[in-house]
Amino acid sequence: MSSQVITPRSEDYSRWYTDVVQRTDLADYAPVRGCMIIKPYGYALWENIQAQLDRRFKDTGHQNAYFPLFIPEEFLEKEKENFEGFSPELAVVTIGGGQELEQKLVVRPTSETIIGHTFANWIQSYRDLPLLINQWANVVRWEMRTRLFLRTLEFLWQEGHTAHATFEDAEEETLRMLGVYTDFAVNEAAIPVIPGRKSEHEKFAGAMHSYTIEAMMGDKRALQSGTSHNLGQNFARAFEIRYTDEDNQLKHCWTTSWGMSTRIVGAIIMAHGDDQGLRLPPRLAPIQAVIVPIFKNDAERSAVVPFAEAFSAELKAAGVRIKLDLREGLSPGFKFNDWEMRGVPVRVEIGPRDVQNHSVVLARRDVPGKPGKQFVPRDGAAARLAELLVEIQAAMLESARTFRDANIHPVENDYAAFQEILKDGWAYTWFCGDKDCEERIKDENQAVSRCFPLDQEPGEGQCIKCGGKATRRALFARAY
Ligand SMILES: [Zn+2]
Repeated sequence: MSSQVITPRSEDYSRWYTDVVQRTDLADYAPVRGCMIIKPYGYALWENIQAQLDRRFKDTGHQNAYFPLFIPEEFLEKEKENFEGFSPELAVVTIGGGQELEQKLVVRPTSETIIGHTFANWIQSYRDLPLLINQWANVVRWEMRTRLFLRTLEFLWQEGHTAHATFEDAEEETLRMLGVYTDFAVNEAAIPVIPGRKSEHEKFAGAMHSYTIEAMMGDKRALQSGTSHNLGQNFARAFEIRYTDEDNQLKHCWTTSWGMSTRIVGAIIMAHGDDQGLRLPPRLAPIQAVIVPIFKNDAERSAVVPFAEAFSAELKAAGVRIKLDLREGLSPGFKFNDWEMRGVPVRVEIGPRDVQNHSVVLARRDVPGKPGKQFVPRDGAAARLAELLVEIQAAMLESARTFRDANIHPVENDYAAFQEILKDGWAYTWFCGDKDCEERIKDENQAVSRCFPLDQEPGEGQCIKCGGKATRRALFARAY
């Protein structure tokens, strides 16, 4: 229950975020520091995210499987080079069944090693390729600074793992899945992400090429919302993932991995939320429309409630995720605010006069007050509501895109201007890609390159930091 106030974004964005997560019942803190309890409303949102991603994975030929939570420590030893960055974040099991374990077990921080080990057994010949697997799972990374959904010790995700005969096939897969993530973010989450390639400094240690989709949050920070890696032959060599080619030669495979996690919930909150709370894109919202009946006495109640129930049933049959709010002892005004805070895209108001006029009121969450309200004849109202959900989805994407574009600033050959931009926006500039340049930019601005956007005009300029030759522009921003 929630009449509590949400801290305004302008006052304290970080508190606003935590207030929204907790007061809308998405998630809460757990007894173990850094862990998160995902509540039913938050989990329903995650299930909708999963369903949309899973459909896309299967449409692109992938199958789901499940691999163990525990990984023999020696597997990570094999991959020391690639997993160096992970070692302080590992949770290690040393006791099992009351006995000290001879072989320590690592709780998976990601599954390249155990899946690599398995692929080595599954793949014999070129006929076994490509091998296209996805896993829905939890992983653990012992993060010191945690935030609900954005960075938690344990989180939920999917990790795709594929093996191919050639570098080109692996690269094509890596980009295909980046495209899947982009399509999901734009068309389901209404977040206009920018797909691009990570710099050497920012890429996954074990990857040849890392790609990302970057989203702008309401405070203009960037959030990496999904990644796709071409792992080259690094893991294939470490785990002997080999195949006999048509020419009878034994060759190493080329592998990829790609993931999207419960972090995307944080992205949805921060890309769309306002001072009233959540604003959920209709395609992912656990409740797409809520009906709030309005009555003052039993006589009105007996007219309004059956009318509302009939409309609710009709919407449900039409496939709308609908909620009829018949909670007792709460005023309609309280209910309006409550559902507004929870980000339900459409509120349906039905009072005695609406019953009389055989009409309903549809109120948009994304357009506050009167301008977002429309009176609709009861006949055809279900169809109108379905259209409205589509309109809201499009409007949310459009407004996020307008915000994003207003806060990305191109800059050339002017480091002072570049620094000024980074205080409150994203800078788009020529970048040589050197680790040195990146380190210095990071130290001086607490900002890193987010990506080299894939969609950019070819050209050449001078690196914003060193003045050296640069053939690509990068986006720089402070990030979560
Ligand atoms: Zn440079």
